[in-house]
Amino acid sequence: MLKCHDVVEQSSNYIDGELGFWNRWQIRLHLFMCVHCRRMIRQLTLTKKVAAIIGKDMLRKKDKSAPCKHE
Ligand SMILES: [Zn+2]
Repeated sequence: MLKCHDVVEQSSNYIDGELGFWNRWQIRLHLFMCVHCRRMIRQLTLTKKVAAIIGKDMLRKKDKSAPCKHE
């Protein structure tokens, strides 16, 4: 059985879908029983999503503003 700190350790890979079937299954089982890790994963997922959106937005803005530098 995974411990909370195991889940924390692998949470980033779990969200990115970089874990194997067995690891993912073990984390899911832990999340099913542990509200703390469930909350932590939800928070991290949200943070990553927001970061991805902000990152894309910044890239887009950078692209647009790039030609203006020379004016
Ligand atoms: Zn836990």
